[in-house]
Amino acid sequence: MLASSTPTAPSPAHICPYAQACSYLDWAARELKLDPGVLAILSTPRKVVTVAIPVRLDNQQIQVLAGHRVQHCDVLGPYKGGIRYHPAVTLEEVSALAMLMTWKCALMGIPYGGAKGGIPIDPRQYSISELERITRRYTSELIKDIGPAIDIPAPDMGTSAREMAWMMDTYSMNVGHAVPGVVTGKPLSIGGSRGREMATGRGVMITVREALALRGGSLAEATVLIQGFGNVGGAAANLLHQAGAKILAVSRGSGGLYNPKGLDIPALKAYMKEHGGSMEGFPGAEPISNAELLLQKADVLIPAALENQITEANADAIQVQIVAEAANGPTTLAADQILESRGISVLPDILTNAGGVVVSYLEWVQGLSYVFWDEERVNQEMEGLMVRAFGRVVQEAADRRVPLRLAAYTLGVGRVAQALQDRGLYP
Ligand code: GLU
Repeated sequence: MLASSTPTAPSPAHICPYAQACSYLDWAARELKLDPGVLAILSTPRKVVTVAIPVRLDNQQIQVLAGHRVQHCDVLGPYKGGIRYHPAVTLEEVSALAMLMTWKCALMGIPYGGAKGGIPIDPRQYSISELERITRRYTSELIKDIGPAIDIPAPDMGTSAREMAWMMDTYSMNVGHAVPGVVTGKPLSIGGSRGREMATGRGVMITVREALALRGGSLAEATVLIQGFGNVGGAAANLLHQAGAKILAVSRGSGGLYNPKGLDIPALKAYMKEHGGSMEGFPGAEPISNAELLLQKADVLIPAALENQITEANADAIQVQIVAEAANGPTTLAADQILESRGISVLPDILTNAGGVVVSYLEWVQGLSYVFWDEERVNQEMEGLMVRAFGRVVQEAADRRVPLRLAAYTLGVGRVAQALQDRGLYP
C-alpha cells in the first residue's frame, strides 16, 4: 500500500490525460480512505458522447468532424464545463477535463457537476460562417444531453461568447422558446454576466496575490512569467500589471517576449492589435521560446496554455517560488512531486483557474433571479468565493500536512463523496 503522500505517476513516455486525472483522484482517495466502490464510481464518467458533425465548408465540400461531450459526475447538480476547439482535443483529454470540473465546482462550493466538450479543430482554419455551422450542428446533435437543468456548456480554449450565443440560439430554436440558461459565458445582450470575460484571469490574479501574501510578499513587488496570452493569460497579465507586478515574459503558441525590466502589457496589447495579433518586433523585448520562458528566474510562473507543460524533463530547472496553474493540467504528476520536493508551491488548477466557472455560476444565479448586477458586484462576489476557497485549501493543507494540490483534491473529492453517500446508490 502506498503512502497517501506519494501519488503514483503514469509512465511519462505517454501521458494519457485520463490516467493522469485518475492518478490524482487515487491520491486523494488514499488520503481520504475512500471506499473502493465510491472510488470506482468517481473514476468513471457517467456519460460519454461522441457525435458526427457533417459540415458544408465555404468551398461546398463536406467535412465530417467529431464532437465530444463527457459528463463526469452530477451528484452536486447539473453538469457544467467548457467547450474546447483545439487540434489537440481527444476523447481522453475531454474526459480528464470533465473530471477536473467536478472537483473544481465541488471545491468552490458551487452546485454543479463536471463536464467538458470539444471538437478537434483549429478554429483559425475555418471561416466565421463555417464555425457557426459547426457549432450549431454540434449543439443540435447534443440537444437531449444539454439543458439548463442537465448540462450547461461555457467557453473554453478556442471558443467565446460568440459560440455560446450560437449554442443558445440553436438550443432555443430546437425547443421552441428562448432558453438563456442553457449556456454561460454568453454575450451581455442575451443574459451574460458582466465580468465573465476577464473572470478566469481575475481569479488567477487573486489566487497569486493571496499566495504571495502568505509568504509575506505582494503583487507590487512580484516578478511574473506567463505562458499563454489568450483569454486567461492575457487577462491575468493585464490585471497583474495593473496591480504593480512586473511581467518579465509572456508567450503564445509560436513563442513570446522577455524583458528583465518588465513588459508594458497595455502597450504590448495595442502593438498586437496593430500587427495582426503578432508580438514579433515589440520594442525593448527579446524573443523567447515557450520552453525557455518556463525556465527564467522570477517569483511566479503562470502556465496559462495547454496541459503537460511542466514535466520531469524541465521541473528541476524551474526557478520560481510559486507555480500558479491557470491552465488545466499543466503540470504532470512526476513534475508536481519534483516541484514540491524543491519547496516550490504549486497553486492547483482546480483552485487557481476557478474564477471562470465561478462567474458562470454568478451568471446562472443572475439569470434565474432576473436581476443583473454591475461589474463591481460580480467581481466582489467572485473575489469572496475565491478568497474563501483559497483559505479553505491552505487550512486543509496545514491540517493534513499535505501539499496544496492534495488539499484542494481532498476538499473537492471529499465533498462529492459525501454527497454520493448522502444521496445513496440508485436503485
Ligand atoms: N472552461 C472553463 C473552465 O475550465 C469554465 C467552465 C464554465 O464556466 O463552465 O473552468
